[in-house]
Amino acid sequence: MALHISKQVRQLGEQAQTELREQFARIDAIAQENTQRVLEAFQDHRVADAYFAGTTGYGYDDLGRDKLDEIYAQIFGTEAALVRIQFVNGTHAIASALYGCLKAGDVLVSAVGAPYDTMLGVIGVVDKGHGSLKDYGIEYRQVELLDNKPDLEGMAKAAADPRVKAVLIQRSKGYSTRASLSVAEIGEMCKVIKAANPNAAILVDNCYGEFVETLEPTHVGADLVVGSLIKNPGGGLAPTGGYIAGRKDLVEGAAMRLTVPGIGAECGSTLGNNRLLYQGLFLAPHTVAQAVKTAVFAARVMELLGYETEPHSSQVRHDIIQMIHMREPEALKKFCKGIQFGAPVDSYVTPEPWDMPGYDCPVIMAAGAFIQGASIELSADAPMREPYTVYLQGGLTFESGRLGVLLAVEELLGEHE
Ligand SMILES: *Cc1c(COP(=O)(O)O)cnc(C)c1O
Repeated sequence: MALHISKQVRQLGEQAQTELREQFARIDAIAQENTQRVLEAFQDHRVADAYFAGTTGYGYDDLGRDKLDEIYAQIFGTEAALVRIQFVNGTHAIASALYGCLKAGDVLVSAVGAPYDTMLGVIGVVDKGHGSLKDYGIEYRQVELLDNKPDLEGMAKAAADPRVKAVLIQRSKGYSTRASLSVAEIGEMCKVIKAANPNAAILVDNCYGEFVETLEPTHVGADLVVGSLIKNPGGGLAPTGGYIAGRKDLVEGAAMRLTVPGIGAECGSTLGNNRLLYQGLFLAPHTVAQAVKTAVFAARVMELLGYETEPHSSQVRHDIIQMIHMREPEALKKFCKGIQFGAPVDSYVTPEPWDMPGYDCPVIMAAGAFIQGASIELSADAPMREPYTVYLQGGLTFESGRLGVLLAVEELLGEHE
């Protein structure tokens, strides 16, 4: 069965790609620099075959695991790191980091409006039953956006209370409409927060941002970065897990929460996964560049068809997410259908909107991934509500990402048999 892409759509793709030469060159240069940083960390830590052996049971003395922690710390420019397959997802890693640096009576501040949906249950903004930060006596405050932008003054004011022990900054926009933050902007925010309260730990939810720029938030003043291994830093190969990198005491606090006080980072077997985590990290700068190119390509193609995009194809990127405003539900569904048809896995299924827990309207998701839920692999999702915006992300290779986007356009224009 041949992938059907009409001549018109192929030409549209070629035009888009020609126009993106400069943007692609910039993305390649970032990947080059990040690859060097990763390679240097591998060499400095004398990575060898013995690191890939792994452990079972308690997982004491897992050489590969402990060295990978040090390698992440070097890459993120931090004192320590905790890279574990025992983190079930990004939310779990972020939650562990928060529980690790807060205790009863402390205050947590979210610096850029509401955090990612799944964090609301962790914080206790919505009641999920048991064990939220709120249940443990930790108070939560939120600095609202000002004209949909970070409010630096508001941040300084909120952080100034000495009870504030942690400030959470979300780098990527998630499902919000604000722009994703650049590392430079995060640096500015860190300066302001530190000036107001040097004792507050600054945690950055780094999901979708790793390796998109040549610096990470911890290079510009953040105390911790946290993310998921089935997104950027897993390079498409890590089968599960999360990471935390930052100040030693905060990483230790998170480790005590992931396991238990007294055990911390010393237990946690790797069950033969070390090789994939190393190989994935090695590939990550390149893989992220493939995803960013796919995002920019999708933006340009859709702009040529008259759709509004965010960010615009010409804009410098701060994460791998591409928003496309599809304006009406049918177009949105067709676009997602086409993305699904382009997947290497489950290409024969048709995505349908469904009532996903935690959302106030049906959500449609297109994904055909080797690793369940891996959004470093090409995927598209959208809440079925105005302005019918699709969030596109991932693409293990630009070549396959490009085909997915062209198939989505083909579906949209209705020129297939
Ligand atoms: C993916 C993501 C998370 C964590 O989501 P999980 O599905 O738990 O991995 C948190 N914040 C942002 C901005 C994300 O993109």
